[in-house]
Amino acid sequence: MVDMRLTDEQLELQSLVREFCEKELRPIAAECDRKSQSDPAGCFPVEALKAASKLGLRTLGLPREMGGRDIDTLTHCILLEEVMAVEPGFGAMFHQVWRLAQHISRVGTEEQREKYLIPFAEDDTCLISIAQTEPGSGTDNTFPYRGVDGGIKLSAVKDGNEWVLNGTKHFVACASTARIFIVIGRTEPDLPAPDGATQFLMWRDTPGFRVGRTHDKLGGALLMNAELILENVRVPESDILMGINEGFSDKARHYGRGAPMVATFGLGTARGAYEAALAYARETVRQGKPLIQHDPIAMRLADMLTLIEATRSAIWRAAWGSDNREHYLQRDAAVSSYFSTVCARTVCESAMQIFGKDGYLRNFPAEKYMRDALMTNHINNTVDVRLLKIGRALAGELVSPL
Ligand SMILES: Cc1cc2nc3c(=O)[nH]c(=O)nc-3n(C[C@H](O)[C@H](O)[C@H](O)COP(=O)(O)OP(=O)(O)OC[C@H]3O[C@@H](n4cnc5c(N)ncnc54)[C@H](O)[C@@H]3O)c2cc1C
Repeated sequence: MVDMRLTDEQLELQSLVREFCEKELRPIAAECDRKSQSDPAGCFPVEALKAASKLGLRTLGLPREMGGRDIDTLTHCILLEEVMAVEPGFGAMFHQVWRLAQHISRVGTEEQREKYLIPFAEDDTCLISIAQTEPGSGTDNTFPYRGVDGGIKLSAVKDGNEWVLNGTKHFVACASTARIFIVIGRTEPDLPAPDGATQFLMWRDTPGFRVGRTHDKLGGALLMNAELILENVRVPESDILMGINEGFSDKARHYGRGAPMVATFGLGTARGAYEAALAYARETVRQGKPLIQHDPIAMRLADMLTLIEATRSAIWRAAWGSDNREHYLQRDAAVSSYFSTVCARTVCESAMQIFGKDGYLRNFPAEKYMRDALMTNHINNTVDVRLLKIGRALAGELVSPL
């Protein structure tokens, strides 16, 4: 039975996250965004991350015995929505760190948990990145291409008890600021990438490993996407996560069930834009009455709210399915992920309309939400590929929703 009442722990964490966002993030969000336009690498609010760590928010994905809460998919979505509604780039960063700490704790060895997760828990600014996308392959990895000529090219060659990695990644979230990296390399160049790729764990200061330029993006600036350059990086065999050639395997399923989490990017961003527009419509008077009393504005807000509620229902249902394995439907997850993008774009555009000319100005929040919302058209999968995956699922094919 699906029961959507939140537990005491979910409510407690939700109000903790809300308080953090209002106190630490909302006051600095616009300024960080403005700074990112001249300095994409230098806009990250380290003090806000430290404050989050102090409250235990950075480490929510860790197991309880390591000081975390081992949050499930639904809880992840509930909390992520709160951050996305205030600062979508910072929210996406939380998503990444919660999910990847949990990934390492679930599929990693005891030695890997000690080597990576204990320092991660102790360092209040430590973030984790996963690097898959390369200049020549994005969709090839997320909508797997089975030709040997496509997919991940970063080469990983065995040399004794070590693997030697060479290649370039780009668009890697948090890379500009992260200390721990999961890099996916091609260990079997003669097999299709889905059968011949491996996840390698490494520290930022590993010899031969370098972070390149931080991407100058339209929105989601605090996600700090950057390039990675690997030149003869030597990784011990013991730092292979899961197993050789298991980079995209079923064992990575926990990671592959993240579609409702990524869908929350659009939901939270839409909610933030809606709340800003609602406040503006209540306080701005035109022709003797607040905007909200003008029917077209009230109808637009009603439409925005309806889309948000419908999106949340789709996401929570898919998240519940993800937490209750036997009820997980790839089609539902893919639908939630596609629909949230539609919701984000539509709601943010409506918010800009409600703000009138102010919607087009940088010192009002509507245009930033619109730019942040457009991030959801590209992240993990392009919006077209999400739709394509639903179509393939309808045709009876099993495709990962992420
Ligand atoms: C904000 C943000 C954060 C990101 N974070 C990360 C990260 O942390 N780690 C990481 O590794 N990557 C990350 N990415 C990269 C992201 O995963 C890729 O952008 C995404 O997979 C799409 O790949 P691409 O941009 O190379 O597009 P391409 O694959 O080059 O696609 C180009 C166009 O062709 C279409 N297309 C491609 N192949 C097909 C096909 N088979 N059928 C139909 N249409 C197709 C696409 O829909 C698109 O319109 C991030 C991207 C963004 C925007």
